[in-house]
Amino acid sequence: MSPAERLLDFDQAMALFDPVLGLEVHVELNTRSKMFCGCSTAFGAEPNSQTCPVCLGLPGSLPVLNRRAVESAVRIGLALNCSIAQWCRFARKNYFYPDMPKDFQTSQYDEPICQGGQVTVEVSGQPYLIEIERAHMEEDAGKLVHVGVTGRIQGADHSLLDYNRAGVPLIEIVTKPVTGTGAQAPQVARAYVAYLRDLLRGLGVSDVRMEQGSLRCDANVSLMPKGASQLGTRTETKNVNSLRSIERALRYEIRRQAAVLVDGGRVKQETRHWHEDVGLTSPGRSKEQAEDYRYFPEPDLAPIAPSPEWVERLRRDLPEAPDQRVARLRLEWGFSEAEMRDVTGGGALDRVAQTVAAGATPTAARKWWTTELARWANQAGVELDDVPMTPDQVAEVQALIDRGVINDKLARRVFEAVLAGQGAPDEVVRSLGLAVVSDGAALSQAVQRAIAAQPEAAQSIRQGKVQAVGALIGQVMKDLRGQADAATVRQLILDELT
Ligand code: ADP
Ligand code: MG
Ligand code: ZN
Repeated sequence: MSPAERLLDFDQAMALFDPVLGLEVHVELNTRSKMFCGCSTAFGAEPNSQTCPVCLGLPGSLPVLNRRAVESAVRIGLALNCSIAQWCRFARKNYFYPDMPKDFQTSQYDEPICQGGQVTVEVSGQPYLIEIERAHMEEDAGKLVHVGVTGRIQGADHSLLDYNRAGVPLIEIVTKPVTGTGAQAPQVARAYVAYLRDLLRGLGVSDVRMEQGSLRCDANVSLMPKGASQLGTRTETKNVNSLRSIERALRYEIRRQAAVLVDGGRVKQETRHWHEDVGLTSPGRSKEQAEDYRYFPEPDLAPIAPSPEWVERLRRDLPEAPDQRVARLRLEWGFSEAEMRDVTGGGALDRVAQTVAAGATPTAARKWWTTELARWANQAGVELDDVPMTPDQVAEVQALIDRGVINDKLARRVFEAVLAGQGAPDEVVRSLGLAVVSDGAALSQAVQRAIAAQPEAAQSIRQGKVQAVGALIGQVMKDLRGQADAATVRQLILDELT
């Protein structure tokens, strides 16, 4: 990897330049079989166990189009407010790479199935319009596994090929250049991909798991001097496989490009690779000369002509859009706009919804996912969806609180223990002895001990200074290691002394 490059301070960069974004998102569809053959698309199977002459590109094999993949493409296009082509074709994109056995990718070129859409995403209450250039169908490539110390191609001993992924249906969604986001550019990019993820999940067309590669984002960015209108030279950062890294990678690229420009240099048009571990991008392939893929219409597949009636039926059956869902849930849950922003901004919407479905009140569900669990996810550097605690378990902790088995303070220890993999909430309450003491005798003994330890406070209460009860409650709590219900303890002390 190249040494770290000079970076300009982000705020300084924003004082001088306007960033322009371009986002290319690849979505692996969750069809059971591949785009042009009957092979399974299941993730994680034994290498090369899901291949056939078609997806291996053997001579004489002929592709057959997966109808469900076309249906998913049309539904995605409709959900992105695109127009759907009444007639379109596949094209061959010719290039050689070992992960692509046919030596061409079956893709779409000048006749994509979906064109010209738009969506609006929100960052800190501010709406940003993202225009969609196109969404087209193509097939995925196989996977190269570089065997060596680093797992990278440089210095690898040898490389292995797994063609299970070759021919899995993909939709590539490409934005128009996104201007006007200013210093929010990295967050807008993140919010857009999060919006797409929610939308695609709502459509049920993909697993949308960034860490498994079923949702992948190439993040283009360029800078132009503030007030200019001509676009600068962009770089395209690959390998950004989490929402958090989209934001980080763009921030890095903006700072790096700003330093190049301020130093009188010129940004090279190239792909860059994001290195999550060290938080920087390194140069990849130069894109200064346009590659010639010798695209031509795919002769082995018939053109696609989705009938208007079919498209209209699919449009009618689209599920609620993510922003509509947010508006509906906000009303159902009785949250203020700021409270709802807390939930959506932190990527907690689904988790909160599932926790409510598991029986918790919306307020309790929001509280845990936006505090305790958000903090844990942030420290671990993972998304909330990957926190090792289920919505059911969160609802269970809340139920334990509501039943008086634990209090809020103990609940935090239950969260810690569950997140550390020590078991389900009821198990850790038992194994760590976290339940509040509800045994009357044990409680009144603790009250007696507190009175004996703090005779002056006890005397004050006897003389009517009820506010002195705080000191005694504190004493009892300390004695019982926090495992008591403060309101009960207060009542017991007052019963005893007044
Ligand atoms: P490529 O084939 O190089 O990946 P695409 O056209 O597929 O190119 O995608 C390029 C992406 O970058 C699109 O989202 C496009 O809108 C965006 N883009 C184009 N020019 C610029 C620019 N100067 N700055 C930022 N983004 C840009
Ligand atoms: Mg592209
Ligand atoms: Zn196959």
